[in-house]
Amino acid sequence: MTKRKPIRVVVLGGGTAGWMSAASVAKLLPGIASVELVESEDIGIVGVGEATLPHIRSFVERLGINEAAFMKATHATYKLGIDFRDFGKIGESYIHPFGSFGEEVAGVPFHHYWLQLQQQGLADDIGTYSMGVMAALGDKFRPPAGDASLGSTYGYAYQFDATLFGPFMRDFATGLGVTRTEGRVTDVKRSGTSGDVETLVLEDGREVHGDLFIDCSGFRSLMLGGALDMEWEDWAHWLPCDRAAAMPCKHVTDEIEPYTRATAMPAGWRWRIPLQHRVGNGYVYASEFLSDDEACAAIKEAAEGEQLADPRVLRFKAGRRKASWSHNVIGVGLSSGFLEPLESTSIYLAQMAITYLLELFPLDGTINPRDRDEFNRLVDMEYDRVRDFLILHYHATTRDDSPFWDHVRTMEVPDSLKSKMELWRDTGRIEKYSEGLFYDASWIAVYVGQGVLPQNHDPRAALPDPQGIKRALGNLQGAIKQEVAAMPGHREFLLSHTGRLADVI
Ligand code: FAD
Repeated sequence: MTKRKPIRVVVLGGGTAGWMSAASVAKLLPGIASVELVESEDIGIVGVGEATLPHIRSFVERLGINEAAFMKATHATYKLGIDFRDFGKIGESYIHPFGSFGEEVAGVPFHHYWLQLQQQGLADDIGTYSMGVMAALGDKFRPPAGDASLGSTYGYAYQFDATLFGPFMRDFATGLGVTRTEGRVTDVKRSGTSGDVETLVLEDGREVHGDLFIDCSGFRSLMLGGALDMEWEDWAHWLPCDRAAAMPCKHVTDEIEPYTRATAMPAGWRWRIPLQHRVGNGYVYASEFLSDDEACAAIKEAAEGEQLADPRVLRFKAGRRKASWSHNVIGVGLSSGFLEPLESTSIYLAQMAITYLLELFPLDGTINPRDRDEFNRLVDMEYDRVRDFLILHYHATTRDDSPFWDHVRTMEVPDSLKSKMELWRDTGRIEKYSEGLFYDASWIAVYVGQGVLPQNHDPRAALPDPQGIKRALGNLQGAIKQEVAAMPGHREFLLSHTGRLADVI
């Protein structure tokens, strides 16, 4: 029997999405696919995207990457969640942790017991019942125990230097046999019969042929949005932020917080992401409400620590392509869509697209349209779920201090979000998902943190006596306190895990 020739996979783009895609295909489909990646150093990468979600760890593990080496190379820190400030109301804050609040008792989720106590004025801040929140607030870190104990009720992600992540993945991918071709693509040739893409033409006339093309060309979306003219679904009316002014700073103290901070601003919000060697800052804003100069001045004033570069303005729009896989082109990363970084979801969305592609990969070289439809259903679902969750952060507010907040507070939200909010308000329940982001604890964190409390809770939580519940919750708080006290400091753990921290710039 003759051996089948490998399927020629061509990845266009060498940013985070491109190298993640190339490395995954090369590592996980050995012998089935050959991978060539085309990128242009002249064009460069978007170069931001420093905060991730816990799912990135399964990506790192699946590819067999050593975590300590990866963290060292990308100057990464650990992330236990996001500290949201001033979103629901100026002066109020909460942490959205990776992990749970309390434990289910007799089949009733913890938050129903908490709601019962809260309605009677007997509950403390819901964050005090979460390991993730308390460890973050204490600047502590230790990996979860990986068993059924309290020490396993949280998760973690990484915060890394986006300009170092791509090169790390490039070295990893080329080590697996991925070929890198430098050059600017100026033309995309399609078959006159099937409409499939056949060839990428470079500026100097070279041609790159392939069977399957992964479009990771960033916001340009050269193949999916360009050559294939895939329609764009615009979500700017729900997510009006369309620019960011990004600026790195020095650390102010020795402390490295194990979390990202998101602080609401008059025309959007600003991020603060502590890395080993510096702190990333950026003001994400709506250009309809704020000029670039105003945003740059605001981030300069708000960012703590000595400024390491001038603010850099990036432009984007919220939305996604109607389909991410069309013909033989799969869009991964910014070429398929964009949702602003409020919940650090872009790299996750690229990772999930890659995961679904590997599951539905045309192993015999022929694309099954049903697999393609399934891919598009899954990717659309991921985008739509994240979209609703992001909108909630803006809409669930009492802020009326600027035209931006007036707009987002009073806007119509998608029906899918409206029904989730009604379910919560009426019953204290969270819509259940079997796939996609985000799960119960995330919604609870934002609802409660932004002051959206339900009128009712699960009646089963009302059966035991309130004092008994209060005692049980008090015991949990005590156990969390003890567990957190025994954890090493974040900086201390980082140092022991990676050997040496990157030099503070
Ligand atoms: P890019 O990095 O833009 O790469 C595109 C590639 O295509 C480049 O290599 C370029 O050279 C190549 N290319 C383009 N045109 C051509 C051509 N004609 N010929 C040859 N090559 C070409 N995500 C998160 O998960 N967490 C965050 O905290 C986060 N923060 C963000 C903040 C901002 C302000 C923005 C804008 C994005 C943020 N993101 C974040 C998103 C994240 O940056 C991207 O998801 C990630 O970098 C992937 O980008 P990409 O690889 O799709 O595109």
